[in-house]
Order: sequence, then C-alpha cells, then structure tokens
Amino acid sequence: MRTTEEMLDGLRVWVEHETPSHDAARVSALARHVEGQFRALGAHTRRIAGRDGHGDHLLAASAWGDDRAPVLILCHLDTVHPVGTLAANPFRVEGDRAFGPGVYDMKGGAYLAYAAFAAIAAGDTAGLRPLQVLYTADEEVGSPTSRELITELGRAAHAVLVVEPARDGGRIVTARRGVARYVVRFTGRPAHSGSRHAEGRSAIKEMARQILDWEAMTDYNRDVSLNVGIVEGGTAFNTVPAHATAYVDLRVPTPALAAEALARFEASRPYDPDVAMAIEGGLNRPPFAPNAATDALFARAVPIARRHGFTLAGIATGGGSDGNFTWADTPTLDGLGVDGDGAHTTWEHVRVGSLTERGGLLKDLTAALLADA
Ligand SMILES: [Zn+2]
Repeated sequence: MRTTEEMLDGLRVWVEHETPSHDAARVSALARHVEGQFRALGAHTRRIAGRDGHGDHLLAASAWGDDRAPVLILCHLDTVHPVGTLAANPFRVEGDRAFGPGVYDMKGGAYLAYAAFAAIAAGDTAGLRPLQVLYTADEEVGSPTSRELITELGRAAHAVLVVEPARDGGRIVTARRGVARYVVRFTGRPAHSGSRHAEGRSAIKEMARQILDWEAMTDYNRDVSLNVGIVEGGTAFNTVPAHATAYVDLRVPTPALAAEALARFEASRPYDPDVAMAIEGGLNRPPFAPNAATDALFARAVPIARRHGFTLAGIATGGGSDGNFTWADTPTLDGLGVDGDGAHTTWEHVRVGSLTERGGLLKDLTAALLADA
C-alpha cells in the first residue's frame, strides 16, 4: 500500500479538480485523469458518456480474473461544492487533518479504491476473481444517470463495497434509510386582497395546512422523517396567491415502511376544493435495510480492521447512497471510505491517519473477497 505522503499527493490532484454534479465538463475531466491512472496500472477502462447535464462515468476493470462474478467497488467523483469553493477552502494539511472540497465525501474514499486496486495489481493475482471500480458522476443529486448501470453491475457482482465516508468516528454503514423526493404544486385563484378577497383561493394557505399534515408523519420511534425543505409561492403583498410549491424529502428505514409512508403522502388531497394539488416524485433511493448478507461481510471486515489497528463498529445512517441500489441483489457493505468530518461543509476534512488504516482495510477486504471460491 502507498505511504501517507504518496496518498496525500495523489488525493490533492483529485480534490483540486472541482467537480460539482451539474458541471459535466469538469466531472468528465477528472474521470479522464482517473482513467489515465488506472490505465497506467494495466487496467481495462470504459467511459460511459454523460447525459442530461452530467459528466461521464468511468468503469475500471482488472486485466486479471476469469469469468466468475467480480468484486465491485462503488465511488462517485462529483461533489456538492460549487466551482470556486476550492479558492476559499484549498487542499491543505493541518496536523492530522486534510481539508478541501469533497475530500471526505468522497474523494478520499474514491482515491482509496484506486490505491487498493494498485496494491492488489502489484501482487500475485493468479486465481483471483476480477475487480471492478465504478466512478459515477451524479451521486450527490440522486444518481439519475447512473442508477441503471449501478444496479446492473451490482446484480452481476460477487460483493459490493461502497467507499462513502466512515461515520461517527470510523463506523461502517450496514443500513441506510431510503429517500423519497416530491415536488408538490398548488394552484388556487388570484384576487385583489383588498377589494376581492372573498373571490380568491389561496394556494399558500392550502400548502400550509398540508405541510402540517406531512410533517406529522415524522416518527422518530419508527425512524421515519419528513422534511419540507423549500417552499415558494405568491406574487405580491396584496394578491391572494394563486401558486405555491413545496419540496419534500421523506426518509424511511425499510421497504414496508417505505410503502406505508409513500402511500400516505401520495393520498394527500386539498382541504379547499377550489385549490388543485399536483404531486410529482417518488422513491429516489430504496431503503438499504439491515440484512444477513451485509452482516456477514461486516463480520469479515472486523478482524481485518483490527489488524490495521482500529475497531470497526457498524451503524445505520440516515443518508442514502448508491449501496441502496445493490444490497437487495448482492452482499453490500458501505462506509468503507475515509474517516473525517464536515461532509458538504466548508470545513470538510479527512483524518490523515485514516488513509492508511482504512486503505489497508479496503485493500485486504477486497483481496479476501477476490480470493473467494
Ligand atoms: Zn458521497
């Protein structure tokens, strides 16, 4: 495995490519850079052309291996940070922390996948299963152009390892809630609020009543939460508003609770018969529910982590990831990326020591899976 210095040097280049999900050219530029690095290792690579405003996806596959199912490592190269964030938060190392946009979510983990591939490729690969590493361009916006590819590759894989960041002091992810997103548009009737108030039908008033009903679906005991994250509406102080829009994010832990919560939400009907309501959306990522195959992968990872000097604990987390698309078909373990904090913020950083610790775990766990009969 590479030294910490080598990994920081390599990671710096990846972080200094700013790659917001909606900047196709920049995300594709990093994909090309990563492709060149894999080719230098003798890997086969394939770029899947971007569409709908997103960049290219990159699939790197080992030259070794037979026709048995491959081990698949899932990574994304896009970040939530707009271009220009790097100037305010440049890549830098301060003590045991390395800062920079996307360094923790998930360029650190994405780089570990490359380093693990390099280390395995440099050893004896006779008799191993093939290894695939997928770098996608649109994870942070719900994987609209990569979902099919992820599902298809996941289905054909022996095991799936996701290098999303570790959580809460190095924990690994054994379950994630599913995510549903809705845009709800209300259409009422405009009127002058002074002279014709009674003739108006307020879209905002209707939306407000619905929001209270929706938010009441939050049930921490059942791990269900609903957030109305954005509302828009109205045109003037003195006009009864004809239009309003709400943006809703609903999180659910299991397929059964997903079915229940989605049905309840989608059954919403207006209180005011003169206001129309159009609900658009649905399940963006299905729940990654606790399951025996993931537990078995986790049990294999624990002693490997111990050899690398740390204790691995499992956690269920609220965030969705691309592992949500694969666990139902193939054993999947998530949260194998770097340790750190501040995902999606300007103080995002990785704990430098975790590059070798977590890198060692990823490499050895991958190697063990590649050696499975
Ligand atoms: Zn991520």
